[in-house]
Amino acid sequence: MYIWEPHTPQRLRYVKEASCCEAYILCSEGAQYYVLRRVDFARFEETARGPYGYAAAAWLDLAEQHEQEAHRAAS
Ligand SMILES: [Zn+2]
Repeated sequence: MYIWEPHTPQRLRYVKEASCCEAYILCSEGAQYYVLRRVDFARFEETARGPYGYAAAAWLDLAEQHEQEAHRAAS
């Protein structure tokens, strides 16, 4: 499982990849990567902050989970 923490932007944020429905967004801040999700209109949470490989693996995992959970009924 992932531990989600309140996200406060510290510097310029770059979006690398957005999952289906933009449920999870892989971002970078300098050399640090993390996964971002929107909690409500103005609030974000982040998880898996660290090097690219670590954050990207978490993002892929979460994106896959999203597709299974949110779109199960559609298939
Ligand atoms: Zn979706």
